[in-house]
Amino acid sequence: MQTLQTNHVMNTYSRFPVKLVKGKGAYVWDDKGEKYLDFTSGIAVCNLGHVPDVVKEALQEQLEQLWHCSNLFSIPNQELLATKLVENSCFDEVFFCNSGAEANEAAIKLARKYAYDLNKSPHIVSFKQSFHGRTMATLSATGQEKIQTGFQPLVPGFSYLNYNDFADLNKLINLKPCAVILELVQGEGGVIPATQEWIDQLHAICKENEILIIVDEVQTGMGRTGKLFAYEYFNFEPDIVTLAKGLGSGFPIGAMLAKKEVAKHFSPGTHGSTFGGNPLATIAGLATVKELVETDVLQNVQKMAGILKGKIELIKESYPFIKEVRGLGFLIGIEINGEPSNVVQLAIKENLLILSAGKNTIRLLPPLTITEAEIEVFIEAFQNTLNKYKKVVG
Ligand SMILES: *Cc1c(COP(=O)(O)O)cnc(C)c1O
Repeated sequence: MQTLQTNHVMNTYSRFPVKLVKGKGAYVWDDKGEKYLDFTSGIAVCNLGHVPDVVKEALQEQLEQLWHCSNLFSIPNQELLATKLVENSCFDEVFFCNSGAEANEAAIKLARKYAYDLNKSPHIVSFKQSFHGRTMATLSATGQEKIQTGFQPLVPGFSYLNYNDFADLNKLINLKPCAVILELVQGEGGVIPATQEWIDQLHAICKENEILIIVDEVQTGMGRTGKLFAYEYFNFEPDIVTLAKGLGSGFPIGAMLAKKEVAKHFSPGTHGSTFGGNPLATIAGLATVKELVETDVLQNVQKMAGILKGKIELIKESYPFIKEVRGLGFLIGIEINGEPSNVVQLAIKENLLILSAGKNTIRLLPPLTITEAEIEVFIEAFQNTLNKYKKVVG
């Protein structure tokens, strides 16, 4: 077979020169048969590891039955997945779509419709260094200039406050927005967890002023932090939560969950999606959520995250350029003095896949199913990487 020299894929990602063709559990293989330990999980997507048997078998069975049917008909798998998500959260209703941006888009539309119906301001407040997606409304909600530059005019009605900043929260009272949207651990922005005290105050102000709280759990959801949803750590109930990445174990699916007092503002014709919640996507979601709530995967995250962080803290002493190790569960950030993408590139040579986040943070997103032996493999490869980086930076 002749392969084309030219690459016709549009240039929206700078890609590493590695062609991954196979995965199982915590490992992936490239087209040359080289094996890599994957501490990216396809950016928080393959939370159960690559090609998990339970999801594979559920998809295989569904492949023989029905691939697609429109949302003009009841879709049994969609109803089962909605029920599973509702049973394991504080929400009442679920809207299905195909990605994180679409889930946030749906949340923004629902908040706007709620405001319209109740004669409230359509304004929505988000936070600096946030990331909510690449569609026009979600990049307008994203508090990062580099995501917005070149795409003005933005969707109006968004403003940005400082994250974890108490003084800025008082501005909410004057702005009187219909909603705030936030991540509980800012992922792309540099792995920055919210503090409990700040969330307490945000929640109190929002309750008192009837401001909806939308929590973007596209990255933190589906067990990534050691609970099904990260909000469970923070002692409050959001009005809306969005999910995507880990929900389908690699099969594209997004979801917006809402409490019924908010959800009732959508009615037939107000929002929709051709593919959203189709039989294949929702069976992948159902098998994934079942695995997360019915097995000890979440306990594994809590246990292994402690072990992994402990080991990183130990080796940290040998590398003065490491400033801080932070995060929640298996969303881990290692802040360095330097360029994290250089570390990421050196790691590939050690057959280890990791990520960067923000300006100066290395991001680790191991599969939730990781074993202690695999953590040992990681530590060895990561130390080799850091030793090489140390030589480069002197
Ligand atoms: C990845 C991500 C998104 C965007 O999801 P897509 O599926 O790429 O549209 C939105 N919010 C957060 C917090 C994310 O991490």
